[in-house]
Amino acid sequence: MNFDMKQPGKEIVIIGAGPAGLATALQLKRYGISPLILEKDQVGGLLRNANLVENYPGFPGGISGIKLVKLFQKQIDSSEIRVSFEAVTEMAHSGTRFEIVTSENTYTPDVVIIASGTKPRTLEANLAQEEVKDKIYYEVYPLLRSKSKRITIIGAGDAAFDYALNLAKNNEVTILNRGNQVKCLPLLWERALISKHITYLSEVRTRSIKLGVNNGLLLECESCSDKLVLEADFIVTAIGREPAIDYVSISLKNEARELEKKQKLYFVGDVHNDLYRQTAIAVGEGIITGMKIFRYLEVTSK
Ligand SMILES: Cc1cc2nc3c(=O)[nH]c(=O)nc-3n(C[C@H](O)[C@H](O)[C@H](O)COP(=O)(O)OP(=O)(O)OC[C@H]3O[C@@H](n4cnc5c(N)ncnc54)[C@H](O)[C@@H]3O)c2cc1C
Repeated sequence: MNFDMKQPGKEIVIIGAGPAGLATALQLKRYGISPLILEKDQVGGLLRNANLVENYPGFPGGISGIKLVKLFQKQIDSSEIRVSFEAVTEMAHSGTRFEIVTSENTYTPDVVIIASGTKPRTLEANLAQEEVKDKIYYEVYPLLRSKSKRITIIGAGDAAFDYALNLAKNNEVTILNRGNQVKCLPLLWERALISKHITYLSEVRTRSIKLGVNNGLLLECESCSDKLVLEADFIVTAIGREPAIDYVSISLKNEARELEKKQKLYFVGDVHNDLYRQTAIAVGEGIITGMKIFRYLEVTSK
């Protein structure tokens, strides 16, 4: 069965080209359905940051996030899946259709898959001087080519340690934990402990981030009762993430459950998975969603 996307009732938009959005599109393609993916940045989403993905079946010994994304990219290219690079800024619903406003266009699809993942929690607004904010990162991906830099990571969960292991291949990394408990996978902790290029400091709270000498950064911190000043070239913060759904109107958020029941709206992957944010889960949900949409279209087109 080949659904014509131009026919009313069949227009499908996927927001986000991370693992969840891509898997949904791949499954729909198998039924001859061509969704449109809207992506604000690059294909692969958060996965581009992963140092070593060891829990995605098919890759004994693991695979880096970047390599896995390259394979995803190859697959969507060969499946001729359409990805349009535009950021969704607003999304509402009225009557039987959605209205999606992007930086470039307005779309009015019948079915929408929200696969926009998560956004990082940011540092307190007044912690860093304005002139140093371009040296503070919320993902590791833009720094992967840096060499011999001093990089401070704020956070103590899986992402913080994974970022550290990734950057410590070519840089000196310091991890700052404001508490005394490490919240990452034991194997990440063990790998960080044996790295000569990672320093771990616990019970250190960053109080201010200023411009230092030679365009570097000065972090004024408190450790128990002591004051501590650290120097860095860059900071990466990994202090938690939350669903990236700022573009969804309040009325649509209220109506979402109803639209999900009517099989018009789907949330897939990290965007709704709280603690269970993993690639294989996002991909599995994408496949199920593609199957559900096909069944729904099959029934309603009879
Ligand atoms: C450091 C690190 C290490 C990790 N390691 C592993 C691991 O070893 N194993 C594992 O299974 N998982 C790992 N993960 C988790 C994995 O990356 C995520 O679970 C997975 O990427 C989630 O896929 P997703 O498609 O739901 O969301 P995302 O990958 O976040 O993709 C969402 C996409 O939506 C786009 N988007 C957001 N808002 C908009 C908008 N308004 N308009 C248009 N597009 C938008 C984003 O740009 C992004 O491309 C790791 C994550 C990190 C950060």
